[in-house]
Amino acid sequence: MVQIRQNNLSPLTSEPDPGSGSRAAERIAELEQVNEVLRTEIAALKDVESRLRASEESLKQSEVKLRQVIDTIPTLVWCNLPDGPNEFLNKKWLDYTGLSREEASGWGWQASFHPDDLGPLMKRWQELLITEEPGEIESRIRQHDGAWRWFLIRVEPFRDESGKVVRWYGTSTDIHDRKRTEEALRQSEEKYRVVIEAAHDSVISIDERGVVVFANPVVEMTFGYASAELVEKSISLLMPKFISRLREDCNEQQAEACEQHLNWKDVEFTAIHANGSEFPVEVSMGEVRTGEQRIFTCLIRDVSERRLSEEALRQSARSLRSLVDTIPGLVCTLSPDMRLEFSNHTLLDFFGKTVEELQNWEFIGVVHPDDLERTITKSRRAAETGEAYDIEHRCLRHDGVFRWFQVRALPVRGNEEQIVRWCVLLTDIEDRKLAEDALLASERKLSLIINTMPALAWSTQPDGSADFFNQTWIDYTGLSRDQAHGWGWRNVVHPEDASRLIGYWQRLIREGGKGEIEARFRRFDGEFRWFLFRANPLLDESGKIIKWYGTNTDIHDRKLVEEKVRLSEAFLADAQRLAHVGSFSWRLPANQIEWSEELYRIFEFEPGTPITFDLIGSRIHPEDLPLMYDKMGKGQDGVSNIEYEERLLMPNGSIKHLHLTAYLTQDENNTLRYIGTVHDITQRKAAEDALAEARAELAEVARVSSLGMLTASIAHEVNQPLSGIITNASTCLRMLSTDPPDVQGAIETARRTIRDGNRAADVISHLRSLFGRRQKTAEKVDVAEAIREVIAISLSDIQRNRIIIQESLAVGLPPIKGDRVQLQQVILNLLRNACEAMRTVQDRPRRIIIKTEYDRESIRLSMEDSGVGFKEELADRLFASFFTTKHNGMGIGLAVSRSIIQAHGGDIWAKPNEGPGATFGFWIPRSLEAEGLSGT
Ligand code: ADP
Repeated sequence: MVQIRQNNLSPLTSEPDPGSGSRAAERIAELEQVNEVLRTEIAALKDVESRLRASEESLKQSEVKLRQVIDTIPTLVWCNLPDGPNEFLNKKWLDYTGLSREEASGWGWQASFHPDDLGPLMKRWQELLITEEPGEIESRIRQHDGAWRWFLIRVEPFRDESGKVVRWYGTSTDIHDRKRTEEALRQSEEKYRVVIEAAHDSVISIDERGVVVFANPVVEMTFGYASAELVEKSISLLMPKFISRLREDCNEQQAEACEQHLNWKDVEFTAIHANGSEFPVEVSMGEVRTGEQRIFTCLIRDVSERRLSEEALRQSARSLRSLVDTIPGLVCTLSPDMRLEFSNHTLLDFFGKTVEELQNWEFIGVVHPDDLERTITKSRRAAETGEAYDIEHRCLRHDGVFRWFQVRALPVRGNEEQIVRWCVLLTDIEDRKLAEDALLASERKLSLIINTMPALAWSTQPDGSADFFNQTWIDYTGLSRDQAHGWGWRNVVHPEDASRLIGYWQRLIREGGKGEIEARFRRFDGEFRWFLFRANPLLDESGKIIKWYGTNTDIHDRKLVEEKVRLSEAFLADAQRLAHVGSFSWRLPANQIEWSEELYRIFEFEPGTPITFDLIGSRIHPEDLPLMYDKMGKGQDGVSNIEYEERLLMPNGSIKHLHLTAYLTQDENNTLRYIGTVHDITQRKAAEDALAEARAELAEVARVSSLGMLTASIAHEVNQPLSGIITNASTCLRMLSTDPPDVQGAIETARRTIRDGNRAADVISHLRSLFGRRQKTAEKVDVAEAIREVIAISLSDIQRNRIIIQESLAVGLPPIKGDRVQLQQVILNLLRNACEAMRTVQDRPRRIIIKTEYDRESIRLSMEDSGVGFKEELADRLFASFFTTKHNGMGIGLAVSRSIIQAHGGDIWAKPNEGPGATFGFWIPRSLEAEGLSGT
């Protein structure tokens, strides 16, 4: 209204005044008119205003009235905005829910709706908002005291003229009782259906007092009463405790103000048969109300048999349980979705967990983390497919140790083939697994070894056809495994060896046992090499051959060497036989003796007989045994060389002469051993003896003849001056006997006599120098060396006579000044005499001890023998010229020796031993010059 006025006024106030005077009067008149109009309009407006106010008042009144109506109608009414939130709730609604208007406005009303129903309700509400159709839905709404009651909610859209929904109007009607009745009806219907379906059980209907109104014919079989008989009777007749229980339940129901019908399911009672016997029954009961009357219909089942079978079942379950608990495996059952239901004690003990804990087996670490995913996948797949499964995984024992298990699960199916549970057996396979792992590792290692070992390895079937070759075999032959398979390998055997090898192999297969044979085998490059084939059968428990295993070892080089050795051995053996030389080796500490073939032949021992010193001794001539033991002793002391001769006394009484030489060596193990030869010198000896005999005879002849010559020579040489002396002496006599005596002539002839006498003396000295053979010289002489040379010269004599020489030479013996050859002649003389003195000795060792000593004055040599000796009183005479006790002796040796020694300023002596034999010796003064102590 104010706006209109402004609009009308605005042109008047804003227009400029066009003129003055008359124009002003006109203007006033106009204003008057306008004023009039305005006044009329204002009056009209006022009228309108008062009318409006009146209508507003009436509207207000009608609204209050409406509100009163809405608030008092016995239903819950509300109005929502087009997009859903609440705009209005009537008082009834607010009273019922106990919410304030503010609490309930918008979406707050949802708080009063049952949570189970709110979801479907909101869903439906959204649908309606889209379809803009009227709709209805049932939901529980909470009463202010907290009780839930069912409501039917109806809603309708309110549209404006254009058809647009501007409001939703709704009502919620309490249908709780109807709903309850419906439910009771449904349940009773259900019971009734059960009754009908189970008509083979006793069916009895009773009224509220427990009086039977109906009984089906089955009661007769169960209780022994005819059904008609029971009508009008109390049900206590059949089940004494029935009525009291019914009352209890009814009272309870009343106390709870519960409208629901009574409903029993399998309530147990003790029933009494007409014959007085008691038996257990189960009663299911439903209630029907007809008006005020309540009828209870009971379905009564005799469960005595089931009880018995239940008991039996319980028994068997108990025994099964104890069986399951005592079997040494881990047993459990899982629900179809693989949750643990039951487990035996063994399993619980193993894990140290309860059934409840194990329900979450996937999360509590009882399965090894590395196996978990696999295990879960497998068990889930089994749950989906229903197929039995078998898996190996590690389980954590209560003590924190993981052990391998084989887990086998079998589904147990119900009547309709649906899986009702899984039966699971867990078997501890840790030990088997360890063994398997070890086996695997050892197999791997073995295969590695077999394929890399530097021998050709193979295996065959029991019939000899090959089924395996190692890599070395394949590499060597260059054949493929297929080519070599079966009997293909025969192609690489040398044609000359093939039939022998295969014949042997077939015999071995027939007869069994280990075997080996040598044959040539072709290399990939065509070269044949020698191999040692070795085969071993593998037997089963019954001793049957199940496989052959073999190796071929390359022995080519060895074979070549062997062949060489064989040839050279044969050559050596031939050479030894030809030369009558045997060889031996004697290892020292162990006294191990090895002989060549020829040595066995020489000793005439069976080849191969183990050689001992006792065995050798049994062949040695008894006279030579001491010699052998002496040499043996020296050998054990480790002298570098041994050489001697000895005789064998063969069983047929013949004698063999042997010459033995040996030298000491050290083998690769630092063991000392003698390598030696034994030369059968019997023939040579025979020749030598013959020679020696001939020589002796010759010497004898020579000696006799030289003695004769000597005698003749002495006679001749001495005769001449003697006859000269005699002639001159006669002439001298004659001259002196003339008268006058021819003194001058006598003097002359006496002079000639002296001359001839001197000549005779010259002859003697000439003879002496002839014995010495040479002029005496003076030089530095090493007596020990001189002795050794003499022994060396006489060795054959010494050996022939089987004489043992012992040297006891003073260390640091100073040299002397003298004639070496003459001194050696003395030593040789003594040695020869000692040997000759022992020639007849048979009862004791023939032994010579050569000893040297020295002191500040002299050096001394003595030679002790074990010969025949001499009588003490002869000691001086022995040195006289021409004293001899030997039939072919000359008695000159000792005489000459004495003159030689005395010429050196010393002396010679002899004395019989206390035991057998004699000792000869000499001494010579020490020479400062020879010892290099004097400047001359
Ligand atoms: P022959 O040896 O020619 O008899 P010898 O002058 O060498 O001359 O010896 C003289 C004698 O001394 C010997 O005949 C022997 O009777 C005795 N005789 C020498 N050496 C020994 C000895 N070792 N044992 C015993 N008597 C010995």
